[in-house]
Amino acid sequence: METDPAEARNPYGLCTWQPASACNGCSLSDDLDCRFKWGDLGYFMATFMPVGIPGVIGMIRAGFGWYLLGWLGYALFFFTVWEARVLCSHCPYYAEAGAILHCHANHGTPKIWRYRPEPMSTAEKVQFLVGTAILLGFPFPFLILGGAFGMALIVAAGVVSFIWSLKRQLCSRCVNFSCPLNSVPEEIVDEYLRRNPVMREAWEKSGWVTG
Ligand code: SF4
Ligand code: SF4
Repeated sequence: METDPAEARNPYGLCTWQPASACNGCSLSDDLDCRFKWGDLGYFMATFMPVGIPGVIGMIRAGFGWYLLGWLGYALFFFTVWEARVLCSHCPYYAEAGAILHCHANHGTPKIWRYRPEPMSTAEKVQFLVGTAILLGFPFPFLILGGAFGMALIVAAGVVSFIWSLKRQLCSRCVNFSCPLNSVPEEIVDEYLRRNPVMREAWEKSGWVTG
């Protein structure tokens, strides 16, 4: 018997990966970034530029250009291995079948973990925050050692702008509800869980009470 391609793509039956036509009439589309859109990915990339561009220029000017390879290597490790395990493996976007992640932030990274429908644990949340702080803070020691204090201030402003834009536009609409930065209201979370029984069961086993 032939497998339906839509079902094969969506082994956990999550609505985020159902055919778009099945979303007709769902009011959550106004509240959540629950389906992949290139525009959301572009917005995420743009929010990181105020950190990335002055960070790269500043490290080169400070005489630590070769250390950018360390930043790149850490970013690849973080997005593919560490963050992917503690944060992304709990995200509905990670539940799509296939070896490559399609989502509005880490799009295109290899998926090396299995999908975990339950919420993040406290240890995972702490690891995510520590790992993110290392990623965003990486250029500062080099800028300071190289005396590039002006660039350090510009990168610091970029970090503030990145977090502010993320919180304002993405975290308030993201379907990875257990992320420590997520700010989707509980009634919206409940409505999404009611549409996704695999997640709802895992969340309720972890102590969530669906209203
Ligand atoms: S919550 Fe699910 S069903 Fe509703 S619009 Fe989003 S992906 Fe579609
Ligand atoms: S949307 Fe965020 S949490 Fe979800 S898979 Fe992408 S990067 Fe990870």
